[in-house]
Amino acid sequence: MRYVILSDIHANLEALDAVIAHADRQGYDAVLVLGDLVGYGADPNAVVARIQALGPVASVRGNHDKVAAGMETADSFNMAARRAVSWTSAALTAESRTYLAGLPEGPLLVDDDVEVCHGAPSDEDKYLFEVVDAALALRDSRRPICFFGHTHVQLVYELSDDNLLTMSTSDAASGRWLTLERSSKYLVNPGSVGQPRDGDPRAAYALLDTESHELMLFRVVYPIKAAQEKIREAGLPEILAARLALGR
Ligand code: ZN
Repeated sequence: MRYVILSDIHANLEALDAVIAHADRQGYDAVLVLGDLVGYGADPNAVVARIQALGPVASVRGNHDKVAAGMETADSFNMAARRAVSWTSAALTAESRTYLAGLPEGPLLVDDDVEVCHGAPSDEDKYLFEVVDAALALRDSRRPICFFGHTHVQLVYELSDDNLLTMSTSDAASGRWLTLERSSKYLVNPGSVGQPRDGDPRAAYALLDTESHELMLFRVVYPIKAAQEKIREAGLPEILAARLALGR
């Protein structure tokens, strides 16, 4: 099975379309979505429609999806995120809102090899920034390969015997397949499609081949200016447009 893994799309239609076109050229069997379809960007309904059309075999909710769909308050959000989520909430069609509200809490077990979550296997809202948290998450995960999002940073943690290794994008995403060891456990962040924060503004996603046990992390160029223009036209905070060009 060849999975495309998408996370943190954040209503960035330009980035999502570029990623889908890129993935189509690679070839895949099924799509996994790690949450945060909306929030920050100017195209929440179009992004929800694209994801629905892809028919993901597993799709979990993110914190922005929950707040935009009215299932949680924005108390934990910073000012720009709060303004964006209230804009998003007002912009959502009833159909988009119903779809987002119906997304399950992670983790979801996808098959014998793979599980998916938004933040961490034990807590959908937890940020896995620190190695110590990654170690705990690797203990909690119930499959050899656990995909997570939420931090918008593309990277791979590998637990082999008692060694925890971290592979950043530059190690892992030089456009080559990374062979995953059958004896190791992995925690993989495919990066953010719509708002990368690791200094590389290109859209991020991952491809996993469960037969060959190979992983590929991709970065895809997309029309950032067009996405920024829409954010400004929508009257969303300027910072949300500016940060796309920086990948921060
Ligand atoms: Zn996010």
